[in-house]
Amino acid sequence: MNSINIQELNKYRADTSGCSCLVHFNNAGASLPPDVVIDTVVDYLKEEATYGGYETEYKNIARIEGVYQLIADLIGANKDEVAIFENASAAWGTAFKGLALADGDEIITCEQEYVTNIVGMADARKRGVKVTVITNDEHGNFPLAELENAITPNTKLIAVTHIPSSGGGILPINDIGKVANKHQVLYMIDACQTAGQYPIDVTAIGCDILSATGRKYLRAPRGTGFLFVKRSVQDRLSPVLKDFLAAGNVSLDGYNLRNDARRFELYEKSRALTLGLGKAIEYALAIGLERIWHRVQYLADITRSALNSIPGITVHDMGNEKCGIVTFSVNGIDSMLVRDKLVENGVNVSFGGQQATPIYMDKHQLKGIVRASLHYYNTEAEIAAMCDLLRRINN
Ligand SMILES: *Cc1c(COP(=O)(O)O)cnc(C)c1O
Repeated sequence: MNSINIQELNKYRADTSGCSCLVHFNNAGASLPPDVVIDTVVDYLKEEATYGGYETEYKNIARIEGVYQLIADLIGANKDEVAIFENASAAWGTAFKGLALADGDEIITCEQEYVTNIVGMADARKRGVKVTVITNDEHGNFPLAELENAITPNTKLIAVTHIPSSGGGILPINDIGKVANKHQVLYMIDACQTAGQYPIDVTAIGCDILSATGRKYLRAPRGTGFLFVKRSVQDRLSPVLKDFLAAGNVSLDGYNLRNDARRFELYEKSRALTLGLGKAIEYALAIGLERIWHRVQYLADITRSALNSIPGITVHDMGNEKCGIVTFSVNGIDSMLVRDKLVENGVNVSFGGQQATPIYMDKHQLKGIVRASLHYYNTEAEIAAMCDLLRRINN
């Protein structure tokens, strides 16, 4: 369903300088930020240069605090359950390492899991942790019954990626949450491609831990991310790195750990980027995540139908519910070359190799795919332009 009318769309496009120069279908890599996000960052940096970094922080402390509240609003959490990071990998890794899983513990994951998370799990396996992968059925849907069967008394964690970085299918995170909660297993979600694309409500999902990045569908600047850790599980994770922000009352005999999720972050980070992240969330919330999600699905459906009508093109996305990430390949032409041709002609798509989602790619014997990831600010005309180029490349 197209949930955003043309007047509104034109406003969002006018708010985004990049829209006038190119067709940007690499929103799963990094979206074009609204100009107001970049102005926020630049203005803050100038203020720091004029008044001093600490002095500017004190002056802006309420705004910076406000970003924690905005993240909490975005995902339905409380402010004291949010930590800000420079990327999602550090957020995810901090939570995962903090669990200190040991010999005999078991983890369950999915075929769409992101590469960095698999690296963490491979390291855990070296310590004797058992990792079970629940693969999707032949239609690309997640088999909930298999998940339920895979849980044992040793299962400590279900860790899944909601929306994969190189595929259009999405996992039923609320249903998975019900299974996790029923068996009282910790539940951790990689929401990198979710944040800004799809409405997140950590309570409805029933998740304990959730990580996300800013630069993708949230349209925040690069170098931003966040971690949610539910209040009641914060004490079950030990912070990997601690500075004076995490620890109070410090002596050589010990210290008191801070009483909120900020115990997991470090003090020094870019306040300018933090504010940029906050501004991007404000922008998304003002549009409404439900409406964004409907528009993204609408555009992705049009794209898949258009691609399917071009001879020689195969669309790879599977599953009943699909997102804004459209993946395809052109018969007999290397996907990297297809990507290059499109980018040369002003259409930003990306190439997805085996490495981003290795379990998924190996299972489907995909060597590389072209990824067109659409956002609400994209248009039907842009989709048609990409398809015209593809018809020419294919001839
Ligand atoms: C991009 C991505 C990540 C990593 O995020 P960074 O901010 O680059 O660390 C993790 N998981 C998924 C699904 C991603 O798409």
